[in-house]
Amino acid sequence: MEIIFATGNRHKLQEAQQILGNNYTLKTPADFGITEEIPEDADTIEGNAIQKVQYIWNKVHMPCFADDTGLFVDALGGAPGVISARYAGEGKNAQDNMVKLLNEMDGKTERKACFRCVIALIIDSEPTLFEGKVDGTITCAPSGNGGFGYDPIFAPEKYGGKLTFSKLTASQKNEISHRGDAMRKLAQFLKEICTDTIK
Ligand code: IMP
Repeated sequence: MEIIFATGNRHKLQEAQQILGNNYTLKTPADFGITEEIPEDADTIEGNAIQKVQYIWNKVHMPCFADDTGLFVDALGGAPGVISARYAGEGKNAQDNMVKLLNEMDGKTERKACFRCVIALIIDSEPTLFEGKVDGTITCAPSGNGGFGYDPIFAPEKYGGKLTFSKLTASQKNEISHRGDAMRKLAQFLKEICTDTIK
């Protein structure tokens, strides 16, 4: 089955393909000539995922999904949350976002945080949502070389809060990550509707 993942992020694409397996051929908006930035200016990550998937659906009318992720830090009242991608301001990059977060967390002993990911899928007009979450802590300094975004400063609980996502292999991260969690729910849903169609 061909399905569009509304992302331009190659890390996400690899993670998704690994989880969904070879029964699905993941396409990107660029494969359909959609190269402009997809709007995402809702107040929630749910709203952003829906906004992104509807944008693509309206253009191509074929099965597609979009994800939106936020990093929610307890000591910062849930910031950066829905603005995680532009925490340090428009035009800033992942490194700038991490530096800003580490500065905000300077001297704080309460460092609990979670990543939440929402995937919105459209098969035939109405979106269905899948959510994933991973708990962890914000480290005091970046470590590790893998992954992307805030990975170097997020240490998941499941590895004792000692190793950052950047220090895990791609499959170790997928097994426990917010997006892995949401993506497995999506994969199960797709499997069920494909089985129903064949029955
Ligand atoms: P978006 O869902 O791609 O818009 O991501 C929102 C923000 O969270 C961006 O700054 C991403 O770099 C970051 N982000 C999304 N997923 C991950 C992840 O798996 N690890 C670390 N950062 C992430």
